[in-house]
Amino acid sequence: MAYLQLDNIQKSFGDTHVIKGVNLEIDKGEFIVFVGPSGCGKSTLLRLIAGLESITSGKLSLDGKDITHTPSGKRDLAMVFQSYALYPHMSVYDNMSFALKLAKVSKDVIKTKVEYAAKTLNLTQYLNRTPKELSGGQRQRVAIGRAIVRAPKVFLFDEPLSNLDAALRGNTRVEIHKLHRALGATSIYVTHDQVEAMTLADRVVVLRDGLIEQVGTPMELYDHPANQFVAQFIGMPS
Ligand code: ADP
Ligand code: MG
Repeated sequence: MAYLQLDNIQKSFGDTHVIKGVNLEIDKGEFIVFVGPSGCGKSTLLRLIAGLESITSGKLSLDGKDITHTPSGKRDLAMVFQSYALYPHMSVYDNMSFALKLAKVSKDVIKTKVEYAAKTLNLTQYLNRTPKELSGGQRQRVAIGRAIVRAPKVFLFDEPLSNLDAALRGNTRVEIHKLHRALGATSIYVTHDQVEAMTLADRVVVLRDGLIEQVGTPMELYDHPANQFVAQFIGMPS
C-alpha cells in the first residue's frame, strides 16, 4: 500500500462538481507537484488532503490509516501557507510555536523544536523579530518553520512562492527542495508554474478540470506527454 493513497476522491460544492474522481499513490519521501491551469482544482485537492474541506466521496489513507473523515488537526499533515498568513504582531518564535502551545506541548519541548526549525531554516538570529521586520523570503521561511515544528508526515504547499519576487522565488524554491530532502519529508506542492513543477518534482501530477491527465517524472512528461493538453501545458510540443 502507498504511503498516501487517494481512491476515487470527489468533491462537489453544491451543484458544482470540482474534483471528479482522483486516484493517486504517493510513496514516502516523494516530492509530488500538482500542476495545471487556474481553476482546475489544485487547491481544492490539496485542501481535501489537508482536511480543510470535507471529501464528498472516495477514500484517503495515510500510512495505512483511513483518514477520509479524520479532522484536520489529527491528520499528521501540515499545510504551508503563503507568508501573509503569519501573525503580524507576534515574534518569529511565537509564530512558530503557536500550534504547539495550542496542543499544550511543554515549554522546553517547544523551545527545542523551534530552535531546531530556526537552525534548519537559517532563522536563528531573527527569532525575536516580528514578520514586518523580515524580508519576503525570511517570512516565507517562518511560514515553513510553523509546519516543521509539528514534524508532520506530509508537507502540503499551495503556491508558497507566488507573492515573492522572481529572484527570491528561485532561491526559496531551491531551499524548499533541500529542506524536503534534509527532513526526509514527503511533500505535495501546488503550482501553476510549469518550470517550478519540472525542477522540483520527483513526479508531476497534471490536473485538468478536476481530473488527472497524467502522472510521471518530469522526464516522462517531457518525453512522452499523454496528450496535446499535457504537451502544451508542459510547454514542449509533442
Ligand atoms: P486552482 O487552485 O487549480 O486554481 P481551485 O481548487 O481553487 O483551483 O478551484 C477549482 C474550482 O472550484 C473553481 O472553479 C472554483 O471556483 C471552485 N471552488 C473552489 N472552492 C470553492 C468553494 N468553497 N465553493 C464553491 N466553489 C469553489
Ligand atoms: Mg489554487
